This record gives sequence, C-alpha cells and structure tokens, in this order.
Amino acid sequence: MSMAIRFHEFGGPEVLRYEAVEVGEPGPGEVRIRQRAIGVNFVDIYQRNGLYQVALPAIAGNEAAGEVSAVGAGVTSLKVGDRVAYVGKVGAYCEERLMPADRLVQLPEAIGFDQAAAMLLKGLTVQYLIRQSYRVEPGDIVLFHAAAGGVGLIACQWLKSLGARVIGTAGSDEKCALAIRHGAEYCINYRTENIVERVKELTGGAGVPVVYDSVGKETFDASLRCLRPYGLLVSFGNASGPVPPLDLSILAQLGSLYVTRPTLNTYTAKRADLESMAAELFQVVTSGMVKIDINHRYPLKDAAQAHRDLEARRTTGSTVLIPE
Ligand code: NDP
Repeated sequence: MSMAIRFHEFGGPEVLRYEAVEVGEPGPGEVRIRQRAIGVNFVDIYQRNGLYQVALPAIAGNEAAGEVSAVGAGVTSLKVGDRVAYVGKVGAYCEERLMPADRLVQLPEAIGFDQAAAMLLKGLTVQYLIRQSYRVEPGDIVLFHAAAGGVGLIACQWLKSLGARVIGTAGSDEKCALAIRHGAEYCINYRTENIVERVKELTGGAGVPVVYDSVGKETFDASLRCLRPYGLLVSFGNASGPVPPLDLSILAQLGSLYVTRPTLNTYTAKRADLESMAAELFQVVTSGMVKIDINHRYPLKDAAQAHRDLEARRTTGSTVLIPE
C-alpha cells in the first residue's frame, strides 16, 4: 500500500483526500518507484478542477523523482536503486507508483531528488518554448508572462544565458524584483501597469517577435498587441482562465501574426526527444547557468494547501511535496 492524494470528483482543493492505495507489482515494461520528491505544477490544478478532464478517481500530479524499487519483465534499461524522474503521467502525488520504464529519465549524480521534481516538467517546458516553438537568438527581445513563477524563473535565467533580452511580467513589485534578479532586463507589474504601452515604450514602438503567455484569458489580447509584424504568440497556459475562441481576422489586422498552443506531451512523445531535451536541461542546471529555486516545500499530506497557495498567487519559483 502507498499513501496518495486522490480526488473522486472535480472541484476546489478540498476534493484532495489523503488515502491508502494499492500499488502492486510492476507488469512487463514497468518499474515501481519509491518517490522522494513530487513536483507541484499548475496543470495539477486544471486536472483537479476539471478544466482538463482525467478519469476519476484520480491520484493528482504529473511529475516526481525517486528510486526504482522493483523491475518488471523485459526491463533492461533500469535496475533496483537507480535514481529516476518522470513527467506527464497523472498519478504522481503518492509514496510509490508504477511507471512505464520508457517514460523515465535517469538522474545525473549532481541532481538531487527535490531539485529534479522541482524542475523536470517546468524545465522541459522552457526547453521546448525557447529552443523549439520559437528558437530564440542572441539579441532577441522576448515577452515572458508570470516571470516569477516556476516556469518563469527558469525561463528568465535560460533566456539570459542565450543572450536574449527578457521583458517579464508579474503580479507584484516584489515578484518583478525577483524576475530581474533571475535575468529579466525589465519586468512589468501587470496589476498596476499597462502591458502594451510598456512593451511599446521598451521596444521603441516596434513590439517583440515572440510572447510566451501562460496566464491566458487576462493577457491574451494584450499579448497579441505586443507583437511586431509576423510575430508569434506562444499561448501555453490558462492560469487566469481559458482563452476565449479567437477571431482569426485579428491576426491579419495586427500584422500577419502567428499563434501556437503547444503542450509538453507533444514535444516529449518520442523517447529520443524526451532524452535529448532532458540532457539539455540537466546541462544548463549542472553548469550553473540555471539555478532551480525551490521556494515552497510541503509534506505530501498537505497537497491541498500547496494548491491553495499556488492558485492564490502566493508562490514564486517551484513547489515540491515530500512523502514522509
Ligand atoms: P506558476 O508558478 O507560474 O504559477 C502561476 C502564476 O500565474 C502565478 O504565480 C501568477 O503569477 C500567475 N497568474 C496570473 N494570473 C493568475 C490568476 N488569475 N490565478 C492564478 N495565477 C495567476 O506555475 P507553473 O510554473 O506551474 O506554470 C506556469 C504556467 O505554465 C501555467 O499556466 C501552466 O499551466 C503552464 N504550463 C504549460 C505547459 C505546457 O506544455 N503547455 C507545461 C508547464 C506549464 P503573478 O502573481 O506574478 O501573476
């Protein structure tokens, strides 16, 4: 048996229950993992509240790190005791679970379990956003919303290391100062400043070639208006609510714009892509170019409080849950 955070209906943080669940032995191609740290991500909230549908009852969470505790038939790439992490398979908020061996990445010695759980989902996301959805070049000036969040602080540092100039946005002056300490050149407090006006000022009226927008409903329109002609809006989240249906003619009016709505699952679907993206992430972290800020830790049983804090915009950087 393993203790887990499970929900039987969609709703607020109160639907999360700390329950004992059966784990069982790994089947062919699977391993069992004794989890040491679990990443908390905004997608966990969308799944809990039903914005993204999952089969019920569900164990919450999409990312964790730990040790292999049993190996199923046919698994040759891993052995008991190996240090591993994963993203993208719901059911992570628990002490022990089964996982397909081909979805795991092995952790370098220099990466701790809590660090891995704090960065794998967020860091792989930053990798595809800034190296694949739009390949950022030295000197590019980019707009990155929610720059003091988990994804945001990794993005600020990684973009700076590429020689890009980052305009961040965040919901308080303290969060803006944090984004600037992590490499943003400017940060707009979007509770008090007008995003489009500030971006136009900062770019001499030109606009930016790419906007990374995970806030969704509240920023989508402003994001389009910050782009230069042929610019790309990468809409990758809905922290303020889903983006309403888009009238395509707005893209013509604002200068032959592009919009993409990517997801990490597409970019990591092939094992070779998962491995190469993880290798690049581990390299920027172990070299010290990107530091992982674990600013909030909770015991696994307090996952509901972690959700309350993330939803209420009380967190910065990454949050992890620790099984006891
Ligand atoms: P964050 O730590 O960035 O937390 C979300 C932040 O969004 C908040 O701290 C807050 O920062 C900002 N925000 C703005 N408006 C609201 C609102 N109304 N309610 C709550 N928060 C708001 O979370 P993560 O790092 O886990 O994820 C960042 C975003 O990236 C999420 O939207 C997530 O869904 C998305 N994502 C998408 C992926 C993909 O592949 N498509 C993969 C990974 C993440 P502030 O107070 O500064 O505004």
